[in-house]
Amino acid sequence: MDIPKQIRDCGLRATLPRVRVLQLFHEHPGKHLSADDISHLLANEKINVILPTVYRVLMQFADANILIRHTFDAERAVFELNEGSHHDHLICTKCGRVDEFIDEAIERRQKAVAQQRRFVLQTHTLTLYGLCAQCASRVR
Ligand SMILES: [Zn+2]
Ligand SMILES: [Zn+2]
Repeated sequence: MDIPKQIRDCGLRATLPRVRVLQLFHEHPGKHLSADDISHLLANEKINVILPTVYRVLMQFADANILIRHTFDAERAVFELNEGSHHDHLICTKCGRVDEFIDEAIERRQKAVAQQRRFVLQTHTLTLYGLCAQCASRVR
């Protein structure tokens, strides 16, 4: 994966922070990372980028469709690589764990609902909130 080229292809300059931010997503496949997470990971490597800059870079990548931005809770946005394949999410309201799932029956039903209403479906997001198995077992 030529990350600098991927960045230049969206009309952005391949600066070190941009390259490193995108590399971090490739190094953490399937992860949903906030600007805070990214900024901590960069600080561990002694790359000091202030939080607003990290956020701006993430938004630039989201605008360029390299990343997908999610607001699972009101306080912070998380970003994941846009790998072109659709999935939905399960969010633990206690520990913040994010899991992904795809359920063909749900996908089919959503398309049917749209079709019945002559609604031209473009996209959808489905997020289930609750307790992950680990947090649920601690509650009891
Ligand atoms: Zn949990
Ligand atoms: Zn995801």
